[in-house]
Amino acid sequence: MERVYNFGAGPSCLPLEVLETIQKEMLMYKDSGVSILEISHRTPYYDDLNNESMSLFKKLLNLGDDYIVLFLQGGGYSQFSNIPQNFAKPTDLTLYALTGNFSNKAYIEGKKYSRAEVITSSKDTNFNYIPKITKDMVDQSAKYLHICVNNTVYGTSYHDIPETGAVPLIGDMSSIILGKDYDFKKFSMIYGGAQKNLGAAGVTFVVLKNDMLNEDLNDTLASMTNYAVHAKANSIFNTPPVFAVYVLNLMLKWADKMGGVKQLSDRAKARTKKIYDIIDNSNFYKGTAEKYDRSPMNVTFVCPNQEFNDKFVSEAKANSMIGLKGHKAAGGIRASIYNAMSDEGVERLAEFMKQFESNNK
Ligand code: PMP
Repeated sequence: MERVYNFGAGPSCLPLEVLETIQKEMLMYKDSGVSILEISHRTPYYDDLNNESMSLFKKLLNLGDDYIVLFLQGGGYSQFSNIPQNFAKPTDLTLYALTGNFSNKAYIEGKKYSRAEVITSSKDTNFNYIPKITKDMVDQSAKYLHICVNNTVYGTSYHDIPETGAVPLIGDMSSIILGKDYDFKKFSMIYGGAQKNLGAAGVTFVVLKNDMLNEDLNDTLASMTNYAVHAKANSIFNTPPVFAVYVLNLMLKWADKMGGVKQLSDRAKARTKKIYDIIDNSNFYKGTAEKYDRSPMNVTFVCPNQEFNDKFVSEAKANSMIGLKGHKAAGGIRASIYNAMSDEGVERLAEFMKQFESNNK
Protein backbone atom coordinates (compact mmCIF):
# COMPACT_ATOMS: atom_id res chain seq x y z
CA MET A 1 0.00 0.00 0.00
CA GLU A 2 1.17 3.53 -0.77
CA ARG A 3 1.38 6.37 1.75
CA VAL A 4 -1.43 8.90 1.39
CA TYR A 5 -1.61 12.66 1.99
CA ASN A 6 -2.76 13.21 5.55
CA PHE A 7 -4.68 16.47 6.04
CA GLY A 8 -5.83 15.46 9.53
CA ALA A 9 -5.74 18.04 12.33
CA GLY A 10 -3.55 15.97 14.62
CA PRO A 11 -1.84 13.70 15.24
CA SER A 12 -0.91 14.70 11.75
CA CYS A 13 1.61 14.07 9.01
CA LEU A 14 5.34 13.88 9.66
CA PRO A 15 8.06 14.57 7.08
CA LEU A 16 9.04 11.37 5.30
CA GLU A 17 12.71 11.97 6.10
CA VAL A 18 11.90 12.15 9.82
CA LEU A 19 9.96 8.88 9.63
CA GLU A 20 12.88 7.30 7.78
CA THR A 21 15.34 8.46 10.44
CA ILE A 22 13.11 6.94 13.13
CA GLN A 23 12.96 3.70 11.15
CA LYS A 24 16.71 3.64 10.65
CA GLU A 25 17.49 4.35 14.29
CA MET A 26 14.74 2.22 15.81
CA LEU A 27 16.88 -0.76 16.76
CA MET A 28 19.93 1.18 17.87
CA TYR A 29 19.98 4.70 19.30
CA LYS A 30 23.43 6.20 18.68
CA ASP A 31 26.01 3.89 20.30
CA SER A 32 23.74 2.95 23.20
CA GLY A 33 23.29 -0.66 22.10
CA VAL A 34 19.52 -0.34 22.55
CA SER A 35 16.51 1.31 20.94
CA ILE A 36 15.34 4.79 21.95
CA LEU A 37 12.27 2.96 23.27
CA GLU A 38 14.49 1.15 25.76
CA ILE A 39 16.60 4.04 26.99
CA SER A 40 16.35 5.28 30.56
CA HIS A 41 15.70 8.95 31.10
CA ARG A 42 18.49 8.85 33.69
CA THR A 43 21.21 8.45 31.09
CA PRO A 44 23.51 10.92 29.33
CA TYR A 45 21.70 9.94 26.09
CA TYR A 46 18.45 11.35 27.37
CA ASP A 47 20.13 14.34 29.04
CA ASP A 48 21.63 15.30 25.69
CA LEU A 49 18.36 14.81 23.84
CA ASN A 50 16.43 16.81 26.43
CA ASN A 51 18.91 19.69 26.67
CA GLU A 52 19.53 19.89 22.93
CA SER A 53 15.78 19.99 22.26
CA MET A 54 15.23 22.74 24.83
CA SER A 55 17.97 24.94 23.45
CA LEU A 56 17.10 24.37 19.79
CA PHE A 57 13.46 25.12 20.53
CA LYS A 58 14.41 28.41 22.20
CA LYS A 59 16.73 29.27 19.31
CA LEU A 60 13.93 28.68 16.79
CA LEU A 61 11.58 30.86 18.84
CA ASN A 62 14.27 33.51 19.23
CA LEU A 63 14.03 33.36 23.01
CA GLY A 64 16.89 33.81 25.47
CA ASP A 65 17.80 32.87 29.02
CA ASP A 66 14.79 34.64 30.46
CA TYR A 67 12.63 31.78 29.16
CA ILE A 68 12.53 28.14 30.18
CA VAL A 69 11.24 25.15 28.19
CA LEU A 70 9.37 22.31 29.90
CA PHE A 71 8.50 19.00 28.29
CA LEU A 72 5.46 17.64 30.12
CA GLN A 73 2.59 15.23 29.59
CA GLY A 74 -1.17 15.55 29.69
CA GLY A 75 -1.59 17.57 26.49
CA GLY A 76 -3.03 21.02 26.02
CA TYR A 77 -5.96 19.95 28.17
CA SER A 78 -3.81 19.54 31.29
CA GLN A 79 -2.40 23.02 30.83
CA PHE A 80 -5.95 24.43 30.81
CA SER A 81 -6.16 23.53 34.51
CA ASN A 82 -2.45 23.84 35.32
CA ILE A 83 -2.42 27.48 34.22
CA PRO A 84 -4.85 28.92 36.78
CA GLN A 85 -3.47 26.64 39.50
CA ASN A 86 0.07 27.85 38.91
CA PHE A 87 -0.61 31.53 38.40
CA ALA A 88 -3.68 32.49 40.40
CA LYS A 89 -5.35 32.11 43.78
CA PRO A 90 -9.11 31.40 43.84
CA THR A 91 -9.84 35.09 44.44
CA ASP A 92 -7.54 36.34 41.66
CA LEU A 93 -8.87 37.72 38.40
CA THR A 94 -7.87 35.87 35.23
CA LEU A 95 -8.91 36.82 31.69
CA TYR A 96 -9.94 34.74 28.70
CA ALA A 97 -10.73 35.51 25.07
CA LEU A 98 -13.19 32.99 23.61
CA THR A 99 -12.43 32.17 19.99
CA GLY A 100 -13.40 28.51 19.80
CA ASN A 101 -13.95 25.27 21.66
CA PHE A 102 -10.43 25.00 23.09
CA SER A 103 -10.35 28.52 24.48
CA ASN A 104 -13.72 27.76 26.03
CA LYS A 105 -12.33 24.59 27.61
CA ALA A 106 -9.45 26.64 29.01
CA TYR A 107 -11.94 29.15 30.45
CA ILE A 108 -14.04 26.39 32.06
CA GLU A 109 -10.92 25.14 33.87
CA GLY A 110 -9.90 28.72 34.69
CA LYS A 111 -13.23 29.23 36.49
CA LYS A 112 -12.57 26.26 38.75
CA TYR A 113 -9.43 27.77 40.21
CA SER A 114 -9.71 31.54 39.81
CA ARG A 115 -12.08 34.43 39.19
CA ALA A 116 -12.06 33.89 35.44
CA GLU A 117 -13.71 36.43 33.15
CA VAL A 118 -14.34 36.47 29.43
CA ILE A 119 -13.18 39.76 27.91
CA THR A 120 -14.36 39.03 24.39
CA SER A 121 -15.94 36.25 22.37
CA SER A 122 -16.86 35.38 18.79
CA LYS A 123 -19.30 32.67 19.84
CA ASP A 124 -22.30 34.53 18.37
CA THR A 125 -21.03 33.93 14.85
CA ASN A 126 -19.84 30.37 15.50
CA PHE A 127 -16.26 31.55 16.09
CA ASN A 128 -15.64 32.64 12.52
CA TYR A 129 -13.37 35.54 13.46
CA ILE A 130 -10.89 36.83 16.03
CA PRO A 131 -12.31 39.72 18.04
CA LYS A 132 -9.86 42.59 18.51
CA ILE A 133 -8.40 43.04 21.96
CA THR A 134 -7.24 46.50 22.94
CA LYS A 135 -5.20 47.36 26.00
CA ASP A 136 -8.10 49.15 27.69
CA MET A 137 -10.01 45.83 27.71
CA VAL A 138 -7.29 44.21 29.80
CA ASP A 139 -7.86 44.81 33.53
CA GLN A 140 -4.38 45.44 34.85
CA SER A 141 -5.10 43.63 38.11
CA ALA A 142 -5.52 40.30 36.27
CA LYS A 143 -2.98 37.51 36.72
CA TYR A 144 -2.96 36.75 32.98
CA LEU A 145 -4.85 36.91 29.71
CA HIS A 146 -5.28 33.57 27.93
CA ILE A 147 -5.76 33.36 24.16
CA CYS A 148 -5.90 30.42 21.78
CA VAL A 149 -3.56 31.62 19.05
CA ASN A 150 -4.77 29.23 16.36
CA ASN A 151 -8.26 27.78 16.49
CA THR A 152 -7.77 24.34 14.99
CA VAL A 153 -11.48 23.62 14.62
CA TYR A 154 -12.62 26.93 13.11
CA GLY A 155 -9.56 27.81 11.01
CA THR A 156 -8.86 31.21 12.54
CA SER A 157 -5.71 32.64 14.05
CA TYR A 158 -4.39 35.80 15.62
CA HIS A 159 -2.35 37.88 13.22
CA ASP A 160 -1.91 40.70 15.71
CA ILE A 161 -0.78 39.79 19.18
CA PRO A 162 -2.75 41.82 21.74
CA GLU A 163 -0.99 44.44 23.86
CA THR A 164 -1.74 43.57 27.46
CA GLY A 165 0.31 46.12 29.41
CA ALA A 166 1.66 44.51 32.58
CA VAL A 167 -0.66 41.51 32.38
CA PRO A 168 1.14 38.32 31.27
CA LEU A 169 -0.11 36.93 27.96
CA ILE A 170 -0.55 33.15 27.70
CA GLY A 171 -1.04 31.54 24.29
CA ASP A 172 -2.26 28.09 23.34
CA MET A 173 -0.08 27.39 20.29
CA SER A 174 -0.96 23.71 19.89
CA SER A 175 -1.75 24.00 16.19
CA ILE A 176 0.50 26.86 15.08
CA ILE A 177 3.81 26.42 16.83
CA LEU A 178 6.64 26.88 14.27
CA GLY A 179 3.99 27.62 11.62
CA LYS A 180 3.83 31.38 12.07
CA ASP A 181 6.50 33.86 12.92
CA TYR A 182 5.23 35.64 16.02
CA ASP A 183 7.22 37.82 18.35
CA PHE A 184 7.28 35.12 21.01
CA LYS A 185 8.72 37.57 23.55
CA LYS A 186 5.26 39.12 23.79
CA PHE A 187 4.11 35.96 25.54
CA SER A 188 4.83 35.01 29.14
CA MET A 189 3.83 31.46 28.35
CA ILE A 190 3.08 29.42 25.26
CA TYR A 191 2.09 25.78 25.25
CA GLY A 192 0.64 22.94 23.23
CA GLY A 193 0.73 19.26 22.41
CA ALA A 194 3.50 18.18 20.05
CA GLN A 195 1.28 16.12 17.78
CA LYS A 196 0.90 18.72 15.03
CA ASN A 197 4.05 20.63 14.04
CA LEU A 198 6.31 19.02 16.63
CA GLY A 199 5.90 15.32 16.04
CA ALA A 200 4.23 12.57 17.98
CA ALA A 201 1.50 12.68 20.62
CA GLY A 202 2.71 12.24 24.18
CA VAL A 203 4.81 15.29 24.93
CA THR A 204 3.46 18.75 25.72
CA PHE A 205 5.66 21.81 25.44
CA VAL A 206 5.40 24.68 27.91
CA VAL A 207 7.61 27.69 27.32
CA LEU A 208 7.62 30.03 30.30
CA LYS A 209 9.13 33.35 31.13
CA ASN A 210 11.21 32.78 34.28
CA ASP A 211 9.32 35.38 36.25
CA MET A 212 6.14 33.28 35.96
CA LEU A 213 7.56 30.71 38.35
CA ASN A 214 6.22 31.58 41.74
CA GLU A 215 7.26 29.00 44.27
CA ASP A 216 5.39 30.62 47.19
CA LEU A 217 2.04 30.30 45.51
CA ASN A 218 2.84 26.87 44.28
CA ASP A 219 3.88 24.98 47.39
CA THR A 220 0.34 23.70 47.98
CA LEU A 221 0.03 22.34 44.44
CA ALA A 222 0.33 18.71 43.44
CA SER A 223 3.92 18.32 42.30
CA MET A 224 2.92 17.11 38.85
CA THR A 225 0.83 20.28 38.35
CA ASN A 226 3.57 22.57 39.57
CA TYR A 227 5.63 24.15 36.78
CA ALA A 228 8.31 25.17 39.29
CA VAL A 229 8.84 21.52 40.24
CA HIS A 230 9.29 20.51 36.61
CA ALA A 231 11.55 23.49 35.94
CA LYS A 232 13.78 22.61 38.88
CA ALA A 233 14.02 19.00 37.67
CA ASN A 234 14.76 20.05 34.07
CA SER A 235 11.59 18.18 32.98
CA ILE A 236 12.85 14.88 34.38
CA PHE A 237 10.90 15.03 37.66
CA ASN A 238 9.27 11.75 36.66
CA THR A 239 9.67 9.54 33.60
CA PRO A 240 9.27 11.75 30.54
CA PRO A 241 7.79 10.50 27.24
CA VAL A 242 11.23 9.62 25.87
CA PHE A 243 10.12 8.54 22.41
CA ALA A 244 7.93 11.62 21.86
CA VAL A 245 10.78 13.90 22.95
CA TYR A 246 13.06 12.06 20.50
CA VAL A 247 10.59 12.70 17.65
CA LEU A 248 10.22 16.31 18.78
CA ASN A 249 14.00 16.63 18.60
CA LEU A 250 13.99 15.35 15.02
CA MET A 251 11.17 17.75 14.13
CA LEU A 252 13.07 20.71 15.60
CA LYS A 253 16.14 19.79 13.55
CA TRP A 254 13.98 19.41 10.46
CA ALA A 255 12.39 22.83 11.09
CA ASP A 256 15.85 24.35 11.53
CA LYS A 257 16.99 22.77 8.28
CA MET A 258 13.92 24.16 6.51
CA GLY A 259 15.18 27.64 7.41
CA GLY A 260 13.53 28.20 10.78
CA VAL A 261 10.25 29.80 11.77
CA LYS A 262 10.37 32.80 9.38
CA GLN A 263 10.79 30.52 6.36
CA LEU A 264 8.19 28.04 7.55
CA SER A 265 5.82 30.90 8.23
CA ASP A 266 6.22 32.37 4.71
CA ARG A 267 5.86 28.90 3.22
CA ALA A 268 2.68 28.17 5.20
CA LYS A 269 1.15 31.48 4.14
CA ALA A 270 1.92 30.86 0.46
CA ARG A 271 0.65 27.28 0.56
CA THR A 272 -2.65 28.05 2.28
CA LYS A 273 -3.10 31.07 -0.05
CA LYS A 274 -3.30 28.60 -2.94
CA ILE A 275 -6.28 26.93 -1.31
CA TYR A 276 -7.88 30.18 -0.11
CA ASP A 277 -7.58 31.58 -3.66
CA ILE A 278 -9.49 28.61 -5.04
CA ILE A 279 -12.20 29.17 -2.43
CA ASP A 280 -12.37 32.91 -3.16
CA ASN A 281 -12.57 32.42 -6.93
CA SER A 282 -15.33 29.87 -6.68
CA ASN A 283 -19.11 30.02 -6.37
CA PHE A 284 -19.07 26.45 -5.14
CA TYR A 285 -16.81 26.59 -2.08
CA LYS A 286 -17.30 29.04 0.74
CA GLY A 287 -14.66 29.81 3.35
CA THR A 288 -15.98 29.73 6.89
CA ALA A 289 -13.47 32.08 8.55
CA GLU A 290 -13.31 35.85 8.05
CA LYS A 291 -10.56 36.56 5.52
CA TYR A 292 -8.30 38.63 7.76
CA ASP A 293 -8.32 36.02 10.50
CA ARG A 294 -7.72 32.97 8.34
CA SER A 295 -5.35 30.37 9.70
CA PRO A 296 -2.12 29.52 7.87
CA MET A 297 -2.48 25.94 9.17
CA ASN A 298 -6.16 24.86 9.14
CA VAL A 299 -8.22 25.84 6.09
CA THR A 300 -11.97 25.53 6.72
CA PHE A 301 -14.66 25.71 4.05
CA VAL A 302 -17.99 24.26 2.97
CA CYS A 303 -19.48 22.95 -0.27
CA PRO A 304 -23.01 24.09 -1.24
CA ASN A 305 -24.68 21.38 0.88
CA GLN A 306 -23.97 18.47 3.20
CA GLU A 307 -24.23 15.92 0.42
CA PHE A 308 -21.39 17.63 -1.45
CA ASN A 309 -19.33 17.90 1.74
CA ASP A 310 -19.60 14.14 2.25
CA LYS A 311 -18.90 13.43 -1.41
CA PHE A 312 -15.84 15.71 -1.30
CA VAL A 313 -14.39 13.84 1.68
CA SER A 314 -15.02 10.39 0.21
CA GLU A 315 -13.74 11.23 -3.27
CA ALA A 316 -10.67 12.90 -1.79
CA LYS A 317 -10.02 9.69 0.14
CA ALA A 318 -10.29 7.69 -3.06
CA ASN A 319 -7.64 10.09 -4.43
CA SER A 320 -5.21 9.40 -1.57
CA MET A 321 -6.11 12.42 0.59
CA ILE A 322 -7.39 11.68 4.08
CA GLY A 323 -8.44 13.63 7.18
CA LEU A 324 -10.44 16.30 5.35
CA LYS A 325 -13.72 16.03 7.23
CA GLY A 326 -14.36 19.14 9.34
CA HIS A 327 -14.60 18.92 13.12
CA LYS A 328 -18.15 18.14 14.26
CA ALA A 329 -18.49 21.57 15.90
CA ALA A 330 -17.76 23.38 12.63
CA GLY A 331 -18.91 20.92 9.94
CA GLY A 332 -17.82 21.13 6.30
CA ILE A 333 -14.25 20.50 5.25
CA ARG A 334 -10.98 21.20 7.04
CA ALA A 335 -7.62 20.86 5.35
CA SER A 336 -4.84 20.98 7.92
CA ILE A 337 -1.69 21.98 6.10
CA TYR A 338 0.92 21.68 8.80
CA ASN A 339 4.63 22.15 8.15
CA ALA A 340 5.19 18.48 7.35
CA MET A 341 2.65 18.37 4.52
CA SER A 342 4.57 18.13 1.24
CA ASP A 343 4.16 20.78 -1.46
CA GLU A 344 3.03 17.93 -3.68
CA GLY A 345 0.18 17.21 -1.23
CA VAL A 346 -0.94 20.85 -1.37
CA GLU A 347 -0.86 20.79 -5.20
CA ARG A 348 -2.83 17.57 -5.22
CA LEU A 349 -5.52 19.08 -3.00
CA ALA A 350 -5.69 22.25 -5.13
CA GLU A 351 -6.11 20.22 -8.34
CA PHE A 352 -8.69 17.98 -6.71
CA MET A 353 -10.74 20.97 -5.50
CA LYS A 354 -10.84 22.49 -8.99
CA GLN A 355 -11.79 19.18 -10.56
CA PHE A 356 -14.45 18.43 -7.94
CA GLU A 357 -16.01 21.84 -8.46
CA SER A 358 -16.19 21.50 -12.24
CA ASN A 359 -17.60 17.96 -11.99
CA ASN A 360 -20.33 18.96 -9.56
CA LYS A 361 -21.56 22.46 -10.17
N1 PMP B 1 -5.67 23.47 22.00
C1 PMP B 1 -5.75 23.40 20.65
C2 PMP B 1 -5.70 24.66 19.85
C3 PMP B 1 -5.86 22.15 20.03
O1 PMP B 1 -5.94 22.08 18.70
C4 PMP B 1 -5.91 20.98 20.81
C5 PMP B 1 -6.01 19.61 20.21
N2 PMP B 1 -6.38 19.50 18.93
C6 PMP B 1 -5.87 21.13 22.21
C7 PMP B 1 -5.73 22.37 22.76
C8 PMP B 1 -5.96 19.94 23.10
O2 PMP B 1 -4.75 19.32 23.11
P1 PMP B 1 -4.52 17.83 23.66
O3 PMP B 1 -5.42 16.93 22.90
O4 PMP B 1 -3.07 17.65 23.39
O5 PMP B 1 -4.83 17.85 25.12
